[in-house]
Amino acid sequence: MDIANNFKYDVKILSIFPEVFPGPLGVSLIGSALKKKIWNLDIINIRDFAKDKHKSVDDTPYGGGAGMIMKPDIIGLAIDSLKDNRSKRICLTPRGKVLNQDKVKELSTEHGLILLCGRYEGIDQRVIDFYDFEEVSIGNYVISGGESATFVLLESVLRLLPGVLGGNETLNEESFSDKDLLEYPQYTKPRNWNGIYVPEVLTSGNHNEIKNWRDKQRIEITKSRKLDT
Ligand code: SAM
Repeated sequence: MDIANNFKYDVKILSIFPEVFPGPLGVSLIGSALKKKIWNLDIINIRDFAKDKHKSVDDTPYGGGAGMIMKPDIIGLAIDSLKDNRSKRICLTPRGKVLNQDKVKELSTEHGLILLCGRYEGIDQRVIDFYDFEEVSIGNYVISGGESATFVLLESVLRLLPGVLGGNETLNEESFSDKDLLEYPQYTKPRNWNGIYVPEVLTSGNHNEIKNWRDKQRIEITKSRKLDT
């Protein structure tokens, strides 16, 4: 079966910096999957919907305070232009629930995603409520714009789509694939580097012992890193 002909995950990104895309989404396996049409990318420049001669997309906050807020009327026009009621709507914001691998898996089963990238002090709340955007954060810190957060979210989601990894990478022993366990340490050639040898068990050829060693390492590493999940 040719997956590329049967499967297309639809991604639409709303941003005032369309020029940063596809960025990292255009390279490596995810980039090849884009070329093979396993997923589709549309970038919508919110500024194209601005009405004044300065192409303004932001204004001062009601109630006062620092910074500017992205205007609901302009973003609304951009969203309406998509004519898409099937894709899941996600707004990237530090206020959202922090992304984790379970959420990533869930998002990978959607028809597609509409991703709204904030800038300045953020987006008028009425847009988020009216269009039923789910608020997602990439971590408990503040970055300057939703574009980098969109890259993080999409790089994690798109690699789970059927046909993207193409058998080159395994998903079932990755970090967070099983009960939030982290991956075991990995080694490659040369066997002796700077006098440091690869753990002997990995060169033993004994698959049971290797599996046991790796399982133990996963548990120990996970405990020692005290995961904040
Ligand atoms: N005033 C906002 C606050 O205090 O929560 C921060 C706005 S931030 C400077 C501008 C934009 O960057 C946000 O609207 C959002 O789209 C994006 N952003 C910043 N940090 C983020 C995070 N941790 N996760 C997702 N998006 C983030």
